[in-house]
Amino acid sequence: MDGRIAGEVWLVGAGPGDPGLLTVRGRELLTTADVVVVDRLAAAVLLDAAPPDAEIIHVGKSPTARSWAQEEINAVLVDRARAGARVVRLKGGDPYVLGRGGEEAQACAEAGVACTVVPGITSALAVPALAGIPVTHRDLAQELAVVSGHLPPGHPDSTVDWAGLAASRATIVILMGVARLMDIADALLAGGRPEATPVAVIERGATPAQRVLRTTLDALAIDAIAAGVRSPAVIVVGEVAARNDAPAAGAAPLAGVRVLVARTRPRPGLLARRLRQLGADAVETVVARPAPLDDAGAALLAALPGAAGLVLADPDEVAAVVALLRRAGTDVRALAGLTLVAARPDVTAALDALGLAATTLDDLAAGAGDAGRAARAARAEGAVGAGAAVGAGQGTAGRRPAPVPEVLVVGAADLPADGPWTPRRVPLLTDVTADPDPRIADELRHGDFDVAAFASSTAARSTAELYGPLPPDLLVAAMGRRSAQACEAAGIRVDIVPAEPGVRPLAAAVADFVAASRAAAAF
Ligand code: SAH
Repeated sequence: MDGRIAGEVWLVGAGPGDPGLLTVRGRELLTTADVVVVDRLAAAVLLDAAPPDAEIIHVGKSPTARSWAQEEINAVLVDRARAGARVVRLKGGDPYVLGRGGEEAQACAEAGVACTVVPGITSALAVPALAGIPVTHRDLAQELAVVSGHLPPGHPDSTVDWAGLAASRATIVILMGVARLMDIADALLAGGRPEATPVAVIERGATPAQRVLRTTLDALAIDAIAAGVRSPAVIVVGEVAARNDAPAAGAAPLAGVRVLVARTRPRPGLLARRLRQLGADAVETVVARPAPLDDAGAALLAALPGAAGLVLADPDEVAAVVALLRRAGTDVRALAGLTLVAARPDVTAALDALGLAATTLDDLAAGAGDAGRAARAARAEGAVGAGAAVGAGQGTAGRRPAPVPEVLVVGAADLPADGPWTPRRVPLLTDVTADPDPRIADELRHGDFDVAAFASSTAARSTAELYGPLPPDLLVAAMGRRSAQACEAAGIRVDIVPAEPGVRPLAAAVADFVAASRAAAAF
C-alpha cells in the first residue's frame, strides 16, 4: 500500500530457565520466526523450536562472544524487521522485569516497527518458588519488592530505597545482586533489618544446575563467598526465605553439563532427548545428511525378484525406498510379497503411514527357528521356494541344509546372524557431510562444551572433518565399538564407551563418568 514495514518484532519472555516454563504463545511465535535474537539467560533448548533455517543472533554476555550494547540490540531488531523478517526477541524471564525490554519496545516504536510484548514468567517469582520459597505468605510477608542489585546502595544513579526496604517487613527479591552482596547486606542491616533475617540465594534457578544457599543477613556475604555463589542468582531476604514448602525435584545427574550431540539425520534425535532427561544441556548439530546413491533405484529393482524380505532401519530408508521406486517408474506395489521388517518403532510407523504392514526384527528372530524348519522341510519334500520364507509356518527338522531365502538390507540394520536367511546388502543412502555451523565451531574453540557424544561412526567422522581437531579437554562419548574406532581413526580420543551399544546405555555411561569425575573433584 504505502511501502510500510512488513516485518514485526515480538518481545517474548523465555521464562526462568526451565524450557517447560515458556508460554504457549511464546513457543508458537518461535516456530514461525525468521530471526531469533536471544540472551544468554534463555535456555538454549528453546531454540530447537525455531525453524531450522531461522537466523539465530546471540546477544547475551557469554565467555565466547562479545556482549552487545543495548543500542546494537535495538538496531538489529529494527533492521531485521525493516527487511521484512518476523523477529522474536527472546529474553530471560519477563521482558519488562529488569530486562530493558521497555527500551527495545521504544526503539521499535520510534522506528515505526510493530512490536508486541509476550510476557514471561519472571525469575523474581519463579526461582524462589521452585526452591520452595513463597515470596508472600499471609503470616510472614504481605508485601514484595523486586529490586535490582546492579548498582550498589548509595550509588548516585540508584533509585532503590534501601533504607525504606530495610525498615519494612517486605520480602525483598534482588536480581543482579551477586557482585554487591556485602554492600546490600550492610545497607539492610544499617537500615534496621535484624541480623537473623533469613536469606536464600538461588543460583541458576529453574535449571538442573540449581543451587540454594540458606543463611541469615549477617552471614550472607561470607557464606556466599564460601559457597562460591555466581551469577545468575536470585537473592531473597525476609522471613519467607527460611521456608521450603514445595520445592521442585532435585538436580539431575547431568545437571550443568553441556553436551554436543552430532546428528546425521535432519530430525531431533533420541540421544539428545535422553541426555536432556538426565539434565544435560544437549545441543544438537547436523554433521551429515543421508542422500540417495546415484544408481540405487536400479540396484533395488534388480535385487527385488527372489528376495523374501526387506529390512528397514530408519524412516529415511523408508522414504528413500518409496522415492527410488517412483523415480524408477514404479511404486510400493513392487514390494508386494516381501516381508517388510522394521528395525525400530518409528519405521513401523512410517510404513503404517503408507498402509504397509511390518514385522519387527524380534518377530523375525523369534520366527527364525520355524522358518528354518519350514525351509528345510520344504526342501526335504522337494518343494523349495522363496515363498516358504521368513516367518512362515512350522515343519520338522530336515536332514540337509536348505537354500535359504534372501533378505535385503538397505541400510545399517544389523540382522541377527543365526537366521535361516541370507542377508544381502543393497545400499540406498550415503551420508553427505553437512556445512559447518560457525556457532558450534566458536563454542568448541572456546571450550563451551563438556562432552561430545557420537551415536554413529558417521557422526564421529563428519564431526572430525567439520570441526577437528577437537579441544583436548572435551570428553568424548561413543555409542559402541564401531563409533569408537571411527573416532580413533579420525584422530578423536574416546573417553566413554558404554558396555553395550544403545542410546540409553550411552547416556547412562556419560552420567556415570560425570558422577565419578565430580566425586573425584570433590576431594
Ligand atoms: N527479565 C528477567 C531478569 C533479567 S535481570 C526476569 O524477569 O527474570 C538478570 C537477573 O535475573 C540475574 O542477574 C539473576 O539475578 C536473575 N535470574 C534470571 N534467571 C535466573 C535463574 N535461572 N536463576 C537465578 N537467577 C536468575
